[in-house]
Amino acid sequence: MPTVLVLAEHADGALRPVTGELLTAARRVGTPAAVVVGAPGAAAALAGELAAAGAEKIFVAESPDADSYAVTPQVAALQAAVEAAGGAGEVAAVLLPNTVDGRDIAGRLAIRLDSGVIADAVDLDESVVATLSVFGGSYVVTSQVTQGIPVITVRAGAVTAEPVAGAGEQVPVQFTVDPATATTVTAVHTEPAGDRPDLAAAQTVVSGGRGVGSADKFSVVEQLADALGAAVGASRAAVDSGYYPHQFQVGQTGTTVSPQLYIALGISGAIQHRAGMQTSKSIVAVNKDPDAPIFEIADFGVVGDLFDVAPQLTQEVSSR
Ligand code: FAD
Repeated sequence: MPTVLVLAEHADGALRPVTGELLTAARRVGTPAAVVVGAPGAAAALAGELAAAGAEKIFVAESPDADSYAVTPQVAALQAAVEAAGGAGEVAAVLLPNTVDGRDIAGRLAIRLDSGVIADAVDLDESVVATLSVFGGSYVVTSQVTQGIPVITVRAGAVTAEPVAGAGEQVPVQFTVDPATATTVTAVHTEPAGDRPDLAAAQTVVSGGRGVGSADKFSVVEQLADALGAAVGASRAAVDSGYYPHQFQVGQTGTTVSPQLYIALGISGAIQHRAGMQTSKSIVAVNKDPDAPIFEIADFGVVGDLFDVAPQLTQEVSSR
């Protein structure tokens, strides 16, 4: 069985859920192997989780400098892991999360491997054919790399993690970064996440639109999200109106989400919003306009006032 390398996404000693999703996708194609890039000790902290998530091997690429540079350590480490795994004949694909960094790393790695990139896959089959949702979700296309080892970024939440425990055998890999060609990280700014899950990776998202009417009233959206343990999202119209911060915008020019459940409150369903959420597994829409386009893609629709429906839903969920 060829090896499929997965770049392990981790922060503060914990694995991001997307890594388990990528290991599941990798198992369809071959033997899943994780690549951990980080400071010394990073892999030891993650090894148990990675094996439980399906990693048969864990390529350990550690260096005191690993966190000092942007993306170049990951590129060098993945290239070294490809070689350690046997090179082109033995490695069927390299999978990364479809984040800004993931796409950056993928492009650089593909140049080094003389291969091709597929970005933002929402599915992957056993022949390494990727499925993509393109042009604002208007078309579903399949795509395949025809030269070299395919380097593929996969959308968080698009593949459901189905963990099959792996052996988790650790294999050290040596890599070097030339400081002359690297970008040094001088500071890392993270938005306060609060107690809610990360929007891009959340299993459930509750989003509010212009129909919410004001920043104060957005608490209706937050209360339902908290009852469900969900992330909060917003349409661009809600963001532009100052109801909710931009970092929570869902859509073409915001975050792309693919949760198990997406609840849209007072959102019309413009194509640019749909582009960021229509690969959600189940979509529930609450809108007082029965002709709102969101109902075209909703699995469950409620025609009604969100200020009637959402609080009842919150109360019902909270009482269980
Ligand atoms: P509206 O279209 O105004 O809809 C509000 C809805 O709320 C209506 O359907 C109304 O019936 C309903 N409503 C009102 N009151 C209630 C109530 N009390 N109860 C229930 N329902 C109620 N949009 C995004 O969301 N994300 C993007 O990333 C994005 N990128 C864009 C990029 C470009 C280049 C462009 C041109 C546009 C982009 N847009 C984006 C904007 C997009 O075209 C829409 O304008 C926007 O999505 C509309 O947001 P909305 O549905 O909240 O508002």
